Amino acid sequence: EEKDPVEDARPTTPVKPMTATEVKVNVSIPEAAERAAATGADGVGLLRMEHMILSTNKTPERYVADHGEDAYVQELVDGIRGVAEEFYPRPVRVRTLDAPTDEFRQLEGGNDEPHEHNPMLGYRGIRRSLDRPDVFKHELEAFRELYEMGYDNVEVMFPLVNDADDVRRARELMSEAGIDTEKRTWGVMIETPAAALSIDGLAAEGIDFASFGTNDLTQYTLAVDRNNGNVADRFDELHPSVLNLIEQTIEACREHDVATSICGQAGSKPEMVDFLVETGISSISANIDAVRDVQHEVKRVEQRLVLDSVRE
Ligand code: PEP
Ligand code: MG
Repeated sequence: EEKDPVEDARPTTPVKPMTATEVKVNVSIPEAAERAAATGADGVGLLRMEHMILSTNKTPERYVADHGEDAYVQELVDGIRGVAEEFYPRPVRVRTLDAPTDEFRQLEGGNDEPHEHNPMLGYRGIRRSLDRPDVFKHELEAFRELYEMGYDNVEVMFPLVNDADDVRRARELMSEAGIDTEKRTWGVMIETPAAALSIDGLAAEGIDFASFGTNDLTQYTLAVDRNNGNVADRFDELHPSVLNLIEQTIEACREHDVATSICGQAGSKPEMVDFLVETGISSISANIDAVRDVQHEVKRVEQRLVLDSVRE
């Protein structure tokens, strides 16, 4: 039978370009894991825990009151495990709970939520977690259980940290929950100018990675509400001030041997990808539908940088 060597060499599935910068994918809900894994992404850059909780339609406090602590932990374990399984051994970065009080108020048990004038500047992310270690510990117990089950590709990420003190307290709670913080991969989101400007202190607490949450970093740097249509034209993730903070942070992280990544929406934008690869970010996480384009954009920029360095 006739063989066509060209045809035989042609792969049946699309080949992703080999890049030095990793390209990961954001997984919005655990149900999207299979589609996300099929992109060939190098891992999950962001899996938000709040979707696993909001889908129960109860606040964590109410869920625990109604069903008990073990059921709550199990809910989280199940939500994460499906994604960790789908991607294994590729890393899956899971962010601890980060819903503002106005979102929690919609849920059963939400009547107990405090009323805040500025929820986005208020009781959310690591602030709430550190204030309620009795609730937060269940999230950490879910991680410990996953590690015990062998899902060593799971990584822990803390949202909305401001300084080394936040990171130290979060790390202590991880240890108290039985997680070996030397052995496991964990890190923080850089979402506030304070966090970016404290990067040396954050690195000293032992983080393995720092991931830019550019949705919030832009909002807080420019004082532009990310959800306010009146100022939507001022919401610019490529604003020089935002890029400055990112660049300084990447350079500091390189000195401290801390990996850098982006998991905000801007990671799916070609202009941002160009800037980040040029600046030397370790990984970029994009939306499912943008992964392929980002893989190719990263490849283009990396090739151009090589050519530039040869010509110098
Ligand atoms: C971000 O702030 O960029 C981010 C990824 O987190 P969230 O959009 O959930 O606030
Ligand atoms: Mg955020």
